[in-house]
Amino acid sequence: MNLVLFGPPGAGKGTQAKVLTQRRGWPQLSTGDMLRAAIAAGTDLGKRCKAIMDAGDLVPDEVVIAIIAERYDQKDCRGGAVFDGFPRTTPQAVALDEMLSHRGRKIDLVIELKVDDAILLGRVGQRIKDAGGAARADDTPETLKNRLEVYYKNTAPLLKFYSDQGKLVQVDGMASIEMVTAAIAALIDRSGGNA
Ligand code: AMP
Repeated sequence: MNLVLFGPPGAGKGTQAKVLTQRRGWPQLSTGDMLRAAIAAGTDLGKRCKAIMDAGDLVPDEVVIAIIAERYDQKDCRGGAVFDGFPRTTPQAVALDEMLSHRGRKIDLVIELKVDDAILLGRVGQRIKDAGGAARADDTPETLKNRLEVYYKNTAPLLKFYSDQGKLVQVDGMASIEMVTAAIAALIDRSGGNA
């Protein structure tokens, strides 16, 4: 099954993607993690993307489309994957549909984690307090504000794209991690599990 976890930054997509990988075996395809790995490795790609990411802006579509296509062609994605933080723009969503259809695949389900902005800002403040500083360069209240603006401007329009395709379902992302996990599991099972 190919699944998109959808929602603003800090909604818990990464946490839930990891649970799905553990329980269902579908790898987590996080473009944010891939880009951070490129920065850590000091690659040209990483150097090009660092300032953009630190500011909370989006890296160019062609960059993330290329890294997702390369990653999806690895063996462990044969049974499907969980897309986490991708797609984030309409061109990315169109490219993802095309890439999958060339491989005889499709997105089966798009799960939106619905959360409140004020709560996201509160969570980032708490994380910084707990850790004694931001663990990620883009995990500050100022950058999160920009990331949320970018989300509403560029990414939220995809909700219509996927609801028009009849693939969008929603869960309350403000419930406990366990409750969100259970709600996601129920939606996947209802949609056919390993479709
Ligand atoms: P994330 O870990 O998903 O929050 O991503 C961290 C940052 O990486 C984002 O704020 C963007 O700068 C960049 N990024 C990750 N995924 C994408 C994407 N699909 N399109 C554009 N930029 C992305």
